[in-house]
Amino acid sequence: MDVNPAGDQYVHYAHRPLAAGSRHHNRLMNSSGCPSTPRLRPPSSSRLAPCGILAAAAIVALSGCRGEDGPSLSDADWTRAERLEALLSTLAADSMEGRRTGTPGAHRAADFLASELARYGIEPAGNDGSYLQTVPMARITDETSNGPRERLVMEIDFDDWDELPPESILMTESNVIGVIRGSDPDVANEAIVIGAHFDHVGIGTAVADAAGVPDSIYNGADDDGSGTVAILEIARDLIQGDAPRRTVVILLSTGEEMGLLGTRYYISRPVIPIHQTVANLQIEMIGRPDDAVGGFGKAWLTGYERTTMGDQLSAAGSPIVPDPRLEQNFFFRSDNIAFAVLGIPAHTLSSFGLHADYHQPSDEIELIDFDHMAALVDAAVEAVRFLANGPTPDWKEGGREGLETF
Ligand SMILES: [Zn+2]
Repeated sequence: MDVNPAGDQYVHYAHRPLAAGSRHHNRLMNSSGCPSTPRLRPPSSSRLAPCGILAAAAIVALSGCRGEDGPSLSDADWTRAERLEALLSTLAADSMEGRRTGTPGAHRAADFLASELARYGIEPAGNDGSYLQTVPMARITDETSNGPRERLVMEIDFDDWDELPPESILMTESNVIGVIRGSDPDVANEAIVIGAHFDHVGIGTAVADAAGVPDSIYNGADDDGSGTVAILEIARDLIQGDAPRRTVVILLSTGEEMGLLGTRYYISRPVIPIHQTVANLQIEMIGRPDDAVGGFGKAWLTGYERTTMGDQLSAAGSPIVPDPRLEQNFFFRSDNIAFAVLGIPAHTLSSFGLHADYHQPSDEIELIDFDHMAALVDAAVEAVRFLANGPTPDWKEGGREGLETF
């Protein structure tokens, strides 16, 4: 873990520290560090990452603060879109350095996500009573025709692990996991895993932004900051409502961009045994509407036609449609596939419309439509409740095509 001496885990890499007394500081905090107004709005444009960080820090501070007029402030004073914006303002800030697995930015992101799950009162399901599940990895260098290339490998599937030099081993990478226990003794031993990957691709080749300024931080606001904060918000919503009948595992995974590492590790060390895991729903890139499926508030499900999950959810009123771009093979391109190859109905919910900012420094928070996201989170909450309480999805005939050889 990487905590700075000032006690602020998230902002110490901020490139533009926010001066006390600046506009945003005044708007969000009084001298005791508590919000100065009973109703807060996160900044609508978060060009300055530290402002966004303060917004999220303000949420963190709320539980211990009182409004000037007396009543305690809580998340309930914010709209869903505002909460999502505040969370993503932190997660996709430049201070997170693109959240590349194996870097301090990814560790800071994991700490932030864990602190949020703790704040909601979610039971930790990582190592030793924490939310962090250590994923043992090593950094190795392959010689390729284009020169040396670095990659991360995992202890669970790298045969020559014991021969690696000790300095190449990383015990610093982790998934962030919480669990909401099922309430129905008949099915509480069954699990729904809901997840998103919090890692992204880090700092890389600089590309000029719209103003012509070179930007080397690949913030991954949409990929997959959007899915990650959506899962947080779903977890917060679930824990406040009626307990689900089945157990819900909240899995915020690392290393997706490096080959689904975190999810594959989770499967080797699951919270609920894999043979009792009855469905997986991932959320990836829901930050912008996709015109191919009707735009605002609509999402598509990868592999929709393969299992009964999509039909069940749309019959229950969910604005979820089949993936309109089967040629992109999205079903095989996200964490869900690691569950699907094991026979678990597993899909990814998305509204990615193939925007040009994919894996570019320009995947920034300014381009996120939080009202659209909030509408999809509303739908996803209902979808997760349906999966946790209703009939389990099953494969359709021919639905496993391509999985045997994947
Ligand atoms: Zn992604």
